[in-house]
Amino acid sequence: MKLTIIGLWGAYPKVNEASSGYLLEHNGFKLLIDCGSGVLSKMQNYVQPEELDAVLISHYHTDHVADIGVLQHALLVKSYLTDIKKSLPIYGHNLDEEGFAQLSYKEFTKGISYNPDETLQIGPFTIQFLKTKHPVPCFAFRIEADGKSFVFTADSAYQPEFVEFCQDVDLLLSECNFYGNMNGENAGHMTSIEAGKLAREANVKHLILTHLPQYGDLQQLLKEASEEYSGPIHLAKMGDVWNI
Ligand SMILES: [Zn+2]
Ligand SMILES: [Zn+2]
Repeated sequence: MKLTIIGLWGAYPKVNEASSGYLLEHNGFKLLIDCGSGVLSKMQNYVQPEELDAVLISHYHTDHVADIGVLQHALLVKSYLTDIKKSLPIYGHNLDEEGFAQLSYKEFTKGISYNPDETLQIGPFTIQFLKTKHPVPCFAFRIEADGKSFVFTADSAYQPEFVEFCQDVDLLLSECNFYGNMNGENAGHMTSIEAGKLAREANVKHLILTHLPQYGDLQQLLKEASEEYSGPIHLAKMGDVWNI
């Protein structure tokens, strides 16, 4: 699998960047995970909207879905400009009717609800779900293909259930919205120390911190997480590509 970081900021994008958005590719299949603010613009550096095969949404906070509408407009315009005519499947949960309804648009996108209790196959990807600890319904994804594994925590406070869910994965893309001296419990986010602790307890092979805060010294997040986890750690960075 090949992971490209498109957007990594929590809550809102920093100037010229994007909030949550990740491109996961395998055997030519292109899956966009989350479609936050700024993602459609930045995504076009790596893939064109009409080239996407599917989209997978963790939850309906705007930093994860703000660009769904413009993605739909892009597909409408591209349908006039190119020969590519297809309906793009957008997978999301249906625990929020209003949020789920926005995934469908004319013949261009079709919202498909995933059942978090069941394993889902999207192209080459086998996907399992874990409900996270967040103010609105939100799901983490464990994605496997050809014997490799990847977890995206989406937005969540720390919860012990993550340890089994992330066990031994090749790459853990963990949210890390708060610094070590903060408390993410009420906001539904993890600190750097919790992300590091999770990586250690789950014995993951590589940790990438994402959903980053716009303030403070981000290097401090790395330092704090590495006090818990001794494996390789990186901060998510726009345009970085990781082979899993
Ligand atoms: Zn978020
Ligand atoms: Zn959220």
